[in-house]
Amino acid sequence: MRFGVLDGRAVVVRGDLAADIRQASRGQLPDDPTALMEQWARLRDRAAGLPGSAYDIRVDPAALGAPVPRPRQVFAVALNYPPHAAEAGYTPPAEPLVFTKFPACVTGPQTTVALPPGKVDWEVELVAVVGRETYRVSEDRAWDAVAGLTVGQDLSERVSQLQGKPAQFSLGKSFPGFGPTGPVLVTPDEFDDPDDLEITGLLNGEAVQHDRTKSMIFPVPELIARLSAVLPLFPGDLVFTGTPAGVGNRMNPPRYLTPDDELVSRIEGIGEIRQRFTAPEII
Ligand code: ZN
Repeated sequence: MRFGVLDGRAVVVRGDLAADIRQASRGQLPDDPTALMEQWARLRDRAAGLPGSAYDIRVDPAALGAPVPRPRQVFAVALNYPPHAAEAGYTPPAEPLVFTKFPACVTGPQTTVALPPGKVDWEVELVAVVGRETYRVSEDRAWDAVAGLTVGQDLSERVSQLQGKPAQFSLGKSFPGFGPTGPVLVTPDEFDDPDDLEITGLLNGEAVQHDRTKSMIFPVPELIARLSAVLPLFPGDLVFTGTPAGVGNRMNPPRYLTPDDELVSRIEGIGEIRQRFTAPEII
């Protein structure tokens, strides 16, 4: 199933058409995406039985919002691809390095982001979305706890991210618009292998990041198992799973986002999100 939020309404997407979930379920399922996450298994059953005639809305990509607009928890993982750990000057970590992007930064797939002062960098990432309350799940059952996968950008302002000893990543990664996600949330069964997806980041059309998600040091099920070993995960929680090599601050010379840049983040089997950047807002 491909789940989306179109003009604020929860929908199931098939090709370029969508079915309104509340309407198709005759009001038995809620319209609010966060509430729907609590009933993910019911939604999947319903979606499987929808007739073709239920898909009567044309999808305007610009009208899609974040699949989970208000997640309770947003986890993010640093240095989860060996080439990115190497370019950052680290040996691959033995434990996942976890920080948060505060939920206020989460947006939909096509946005314009006002650059804050500093050095704003890109990080294309696969985002796993939790589909049920999960505590202490084993790795071999962890995929069952995942509602689906979506594309994310872990936009990062490097000055505030790296200042202080030890550095605290979370604020520098949480400016307004720094967590774009979408375009849709795709259930794991839709992929031939959800652990092996091509992931690409393009800056003004140039591929600056490119890898496959099977390169991850800690793959999705291991991240879910290790996070849930510590605390409960809730339906709709996001896990940004780390970025491949090719971020701007490790280029020589370093390169950062500037006004009028366009960033496209793409993952095989899900789709792409698109961000444009503007000069800092004058407050
Ligand atoms: Zn990241």
